[in-house]
Amino acid sequence: MHGTRLVQRAMPSMARSAQITAVKGFRDVLPDESARWQVLEAAALDIFSRYAFGEIRLPIAERTELFARSIGEATDIVEKEMYTFVDRGDTSLTLRPEATAGVVRAAIEHGLVAPDREVRIFYRGPMFRRERPQKGRFRQFYQIGAEVLGREDPVIDAEILGLLRDLLARVEVRDAVFEVSSLGDETCRPGYRQRLRDFATSRRAHLCDNCQRRLERNPLRLLDCKEHACRSAMAGAPLMIDSLCGPCAEHFAAVRRLLDAANVPVTLNPRIVRGLDYYCRTAFEIVAAGLGSQNAIGGGGRYDGLVASLGGPAIGGVGFAIGVERLAMVASALTVDTPARPIVVAPLGADAWAVGFSVATALRQAGRRVELVAGRPSLRSALRHADRIGAQQILMIGPEELSAGRGSIRDLERRVDRPLSVDLETAGERLLAQVDGRAEAIA
Ligand code: AMP
Repeated sequence: MHGTRLVQRAMPSMARSAQITAVKGFRDVLPDESARWQVLEAAALDIFSRYAFGEIRLPIAERTELFARSIGEATDIVEKEMYTFVDRGDTSLTLRPEATAGVVRAAIEHGLVAPDREVRIFYRGPMFRRERPQKGRFRQFYQIGAEVLGREDPVIDAEILGLLRDLLARVEVRDAVFEVSSLGDETCRPGYRQRLRDFATSRRAHLCDNCQRRLERNPLRLLDCKEHACRSAMAGAPLMIDSLCGPCAEHFAAVRRLLDAANVPVTLNPRIVRGLDYYCRTAFEIVAAGLGSQNAIGGGGRYDGLVASLGGPAIGGVGFAIGVERLAMVASALTVDTPARPIVVAPLGADAWAVGFSVATALRQAGRRVELVAGRPSLRSALRHADRIGAQQILMIGPEELSAGRGSIRDLERRVDRPLSVDLETAGERLLAQVDGRAEAIA
C-alpha cells in the first residue's frame, strides 16, 4: 500500500524514459491476431483428438547437445541459427529451434517408448532460429506439430499426410500443394550422397561460396540453394528418388498407393531437402500460394534412426511441423465468433468502487462479460466508453444510487433507463434477473 502511494505520487513528475522495443525478429501477437490463432488451435486440437494424439508441453530450453546430435552438426540450424548460451551452472543450453528432438528426448526419458508400442504426441509453441527476418520468417515463430513413435509401416506416413489434409481443409487453405519424396536410408543414401558430391565437384567453380562449403559436409543442401548460378549448375544432378534401395522404393510406393486410395493428392518433388539430418525415407513439404518466397507452411517426414541415436530403443518415427504464422496467413476460415456484448458497470466516484467491484464480480461469476469502468468516474465518459466497446447495458452507481443501495441500468440500444429494485450488495441471483429484465420471474 505504502509502495503504491509512492508510485502514484511520483508518476506525474517522472521523466519520460527511452522506449524499449521488441528484439528484431521477435514479434508480439496482439489480441486480434491471437483470436485467429485460437480458432486455428481449436481446429488442430479437434483434428488431433480424432487421430488419437495426446499433447505434450515441452521445455523451451534443452541441452545444446540434444539438438547438435539430432538435427546434425552440419545443418544450417545447428551451425548458425541456434540461440545457445551458457547458464550460471556452466551448462550449455539452447532455445529449441524445433520440437521433434525434445519430444523424442521426453518420450525416452519417461519410458513412453518401447519396441511394439506406438506413441502419438502433438505439441504447439514457440521455436527459435536466428534466421534473417523477412515476410513470414521470424526468429521466434510458432509451430504446431505431431510425432508418431514406434511405427515403421507406410500406413502411418500416409495417415500423417491425411491428418494434415484434414486440418488444412478445416481451416480452408486453398491452393496448398503437398510435395513428397523419399530421402532413402542408411543403405542407399551414402552411395547417392557420394554421386551427388562427385557431380557437384565437377561444377564447383559455378557454385556460390555457401555451396562450396556445403559440398564436403552436407552435399544434399546443394539441391536446395536459391542462387540462380547454383540452380543451373545443379540442374541435371542425380536424384535420391532414382537411387533408392529396394525396401525404400517399396516403402515409398506403398505410401503413394495409400494416399491415392484415401484421395490425398500429392505431388512428387524429388528435390525436397529437409534442413534437418534425421530424416529418412518419406519427406514432405506443404507449400501454399500467396506467401512469397517463404511459401512452406509445413513439413516433415520419417526419422527411423533418431530414437536410437538419442539413447532409446530402435524404433521408427514420423512427424510434421506447421508454421502458425504462415498457416494463419493463408487460412480463410479463422473467423472469430463475436463475443457477447458486455455489460458496463460504472461506479461513479471512488465511494462507489467497492459496490461496483462486487456487482461486477457477481455478474462475472454468473457468466456475464463485464467491464468495470471505475477509473472513469464521470457519467459522460462512462457512457462514451460503453458505446465505444459496443456494450449492451450500463449499470450506473452514482451517489444517489449508492445511498439508496440500488443502481440503475441503461439499455444502450433503446436508450432507456430502468431503476433496479434490489439491494446491490445482497441481491445475488436476483441482481442478474433484474439486469436481464426478468425481475418478475424471480420476485
Ligand atoms: P521446419 O521445422 O524447418 O521443417 O519448418 C516447419 C515449418 O515451420 C515451415 O514450413 C514454416 O512454416 C515454419 N517455419 C520454420 N522456420 C520459420 C521461421 N524462421 N519463421 C516462421 N516460420 C518458420
